[in-house]
Amino acid sequence: MTLFAHPDFDHHEQIIYGNDRASGLQAIIAIHNTCRGPALGGLRIHAYPTEERALADALRLSRGMTYKSAIADLPLGGGKAVIIADPKRHKTPALLEAMGRLIASQGGRYITAEDSGSGEQDMQIIAGVTEHVSGLRRHGNASGDPSPFTAWGVFNALRCAVRHGLERDDLTGLRVAIQGVGHVGEHLARHLHDAGAHLILADVDTQAVKHLANELHADMASPLDIFDAEVDIFAPCAMGAVLDKRVCERLKASIVVGAANNQLATPEMADRLHQRGILYTPDYVANAGGLIEVAWQRREDYRHDLVMEHIAGIERTLDEIFDRASREQCSPAPIADRLAEERFSPRND
Ligand code: NAD
Repeated sequence: MTLFAHPDFDHHEQIIYGNDRASGLQAIIAIHNTCRGPALGGLRIHAYPTEERALADALRLSRGMTYKSAIADLPLGGGKAVIIADPKRHKTPALLEAMGRLIASQGGRYITAEDSGSGEQDMQIIAGVTEHVSGLRRHGNASGDPSPFTAWGVFNALRCAVRHGLERDDLTGLRVAIQGVGHVGEHLARHLHDAGAHLILADVDTQAVKHLANELHADMASPLDIFDAEVDIFAPCAMGAVLDKRVCERLKASIVVGAANNQLATPEMADRLHQRGILYTPDYVANAGGLIEVAWQRREDYRHDLVMEHIAGIERTLDEIFDRASREQCSPAPIADRLAEERFSPRND
């Protein structure tokens, strides 16, 4: 396997491999771009079946962070770290400390944070070794959970998409299907309920979905049928790559907007949605609320109202993206990419 010919390699500035025999650490840090600032991105701990899969994840996710930070106007670049280990069985303090030393060796070019397989407690252990850790609450948001901020951003994005796609200013009576009522999906459902929308909820966790549906007087659909729901808006808040060929054909909604990362199974799916007249809201624009809050946690002048104002700015960014897409008669996805790229100049191009 050669790095520079790897399909997910996109002029990444640096890839760092780390090994620590004593703790069993095998890790990769991918730094995609630092033009706007240090590369921030979560630490994923996962039992990757092969080293190649771990590298692909680090390359893809670090690039995504560059775009998300740039579009959210944060003074940050894009990076990601992965540890090849089962977080349930192999995550030890020694492993995390070794990871901390690897991060420290970068001298601040890479800043880590929580991601799947790592949590706030793990960040505290890493912070014992290096200061280059985010996701530790210094001001406000004592729970350390970015999901309410992500959900607030998605809600703002949804309102904007409704203005552009349905030419409506209010959400009263609109039908919204939410796929996944976990951390973000549940908060989003509450915002939408308060705004007068009617909800159709699906989750593989049947207890959780029943409970929330009862409370919010929502309908339920099975995880397999949620794509066929007769709704105005489809909100993917579960896993990535959900918008594949079959789902793009099945959707009845006029708008897609949700929290999930990497919703498009392939970039071409954006064109397919556009051809079907479905307004796609670029995921990394809509779901940047949590990252915005994490970035503010690094500042001495953290203020909750300023964080919320910054997150509400997602609506202005989307206004620009939807306007440009409508002028150019194309999907908003490539427009968002171009706008993000205008905000960071790739170093190695
Ligand atoms: P979560 O794990 O708390 O919730 C995901 C929910 O989806 C769970 O309830 C799970 O049971 C459900 N689910 C899984 N597979 C499903 C399926 N096939 N059909 C229906 N439901 C299914 O995760 P989260 O923190 O709420 O994040 C949701 C998505 O948003 C993820 O893709 C995540 O990467 C992305 N995201 C989250 C944040 C954040 O702040 N948490 C920020 C940016 C992006």
